[in-house]
Amino acid sequence: MTQQTIAIVGAGFSGTLLALHLMRQCSPETRIVLIERNQHFGRGAAYSTGNSSHLLNVPAAKMSAFQARPSDFLDWLKACPPELLDGLQPLPTTFVPRAIFGRYISDLLENEMKSTLHCGQLELLRADVTDIAPGSGGMVVTLGNGEALPVDRAVLAVGNFPPSPPPVADASFYDTEHYRPDPWAPDLLDNLDPEAPLLLIGTGLTTVDTVVSLLDRAHRGPIVALSRRGLLPQNHLLGPVKTALPETEEFPTRLSNLARFLRDRSGQAREAGGSWQAVIDELRPMTTEIWQAMPHEDRLRFLRHLRPWWDTHRHRISGPVAARIAEARRTGQLRIQAGRIRGYSVTPDGVEVTYRPRFKDELDSLTVGRVINCSGPESDFGRIRDPLVRRMLDQGMVRPDALSLGLDITRTCALLGRDGGISRRLFAIGPVTKGAFWEMTAVPDIRQQAEFLAGQLAALVKPPAVAAQSSDVSWSI
Ligand SMILES: Cc1cc2nc3c(=O)[nH]c(=O)nc-3n(C[C@H](O)[C@H](O)[C@H](O)COP(=O)(O)OP(=O)(O)OC[C@H]3O[C@@H](n4cnc5c(N)ncnc54)[C@H](O)[C@@H]3O)c2cc1C
Repeated sequence: MTQQTIAIVGAGFSGTLLALHLMRQCSPETRIVLIERNQHFGRGAAYSTGNSSHLLNVPAAKMSAFQARPSDFLDWLKACPPELLDGLQPLPTTFVPRAIFGRYISDLLENEMKSTLHCGQLELLRADVTDIAPGSGGMVVTLGNGEALPVDRAVLAVGNFPPSPPPVADASFYDTEHYRPDPWAPDLLDNLDPEAPLLLIGTGLTTVDTVVSLLDRAHRGPIVALSRRGLLPQNHLLGPVKTALPETEEFPTRLSNLARFLRDRSGQAREAGGSWQAVIDELRPMTTEIWQAMPHEDRLRFLRHLRPWWDTHRHRISGPVAARIAEARRTGQLRIQAGRIRGYSVTPDGVEVTYRPRFKDELDSLTVGRVINCSGPESDFGRIRDPLVRRMLDQGMVRPDALSLGLDITRTCALLGRDGGISRRLFAIGPVTKGAFWEMTAVPDIRQQAEFLAGQLAALVKPPAVAAQSSDVSWSI
């Protein structure tokens, strides 16, 4: 039997978890190569933060890497040496530092590699992938040093891309040292005058992270966070969410009905002594199905008008983080501004930023020392400048999805090429698949997708006689 090779490009949470599931689901002859350009495997942008104030926005009980073992993360936490936890109580409701979650994923990978069952099956390769193209009888993955790696299948697990800057007439400001394009860069706040006034573009989770980092380093200068609507993430409730809702008979899939449903259910929850958080949580297991059943024009309308509202209610922040943000607003150090940036002018005092406040005709301005783009990951592949992405788009290997949320993909995670052909060799996992699934950002969704895709790939790489007997794995997301 010939050995089959599966390459996974990107070893953040998605790629690493997929590798773990592939080791369990594929025959031992299958070779798995996990390729990562950064230093750490299993962390990606979200879990490589060194700041212990950057907390998970999901309680520990819901952060297991495995659906079938819901308490896995909590059990791991309880077995951790106390010095790693630094006084943290490993309770189901604890919001753990993201760096500790990264350690959990790296530990899982290390343990699986040490297991005699999978010895030698997985190779970790530190390299920047610059191209993936068809090769003789399979695919060829090209690495940054020019080396060509022949594989049978490849999975893009390239994750989140830094935000794009807001469009302005003269974009030359974005090339100056006053602008920081990548909010996850380790040197983001290096050489920053603690008195400097700052502008953060965006008011979502990345802005919250950045404000927390600034407060940790005792930044004293004023901080303005600006987004079109000026909506900050909502808080998690302390303690369990009271449901107190009658069972839902039917979930609407037209946008206007869905908006009414959310309003009515929230009203019912309030009357029954509960809260709107219960309604959002009730929708969670259904979100992908609702998304997939929603007419295309309603999805477009949702993205245009309701997305910021949904995001701020769905992706909530923990109590301790919310308290720090509220305090910074109370003291006046942090100001939230709704509006649109119109332009920048570099002056001897810093950067003068001109913006139009929401619902106003006149322009306003502020002078800051640094502008940091915290506006959330860029998902429009027409705008992403990453060399691998550009190359694959230019070669027609992949195409953007119709909603500009990621790449065009089937519900079984197979990528579509420029001409609409469905690849049997090229797949994707994680945030780049949002167009098809919508909820494909948080750990609970990605872990389900990783397990599913591993099953798909395991069936594809089985020897022909066995593959013919195997039944199709059904999509359960
Ligand atoms: C700041 C932040 C905080 C988050 N907090 C939470 C949370 O609290 N709870 C939760 O459930 N979810 C959270 N999420 C969401 C979620 O967990 C992440 O989106 C998820 O980790 C995505 O993982 P990924 O592996 O797909 O992407 P990424 O983590 O972005 O990893 C992709 C990896 O691919 C590598 N890569 C890319 N291109 C190449 C290439 N050409 N060659 C080699 N390597 C390449 C990158 O270096 C990177 O390591 C957060 C996300 C972010 C960004």
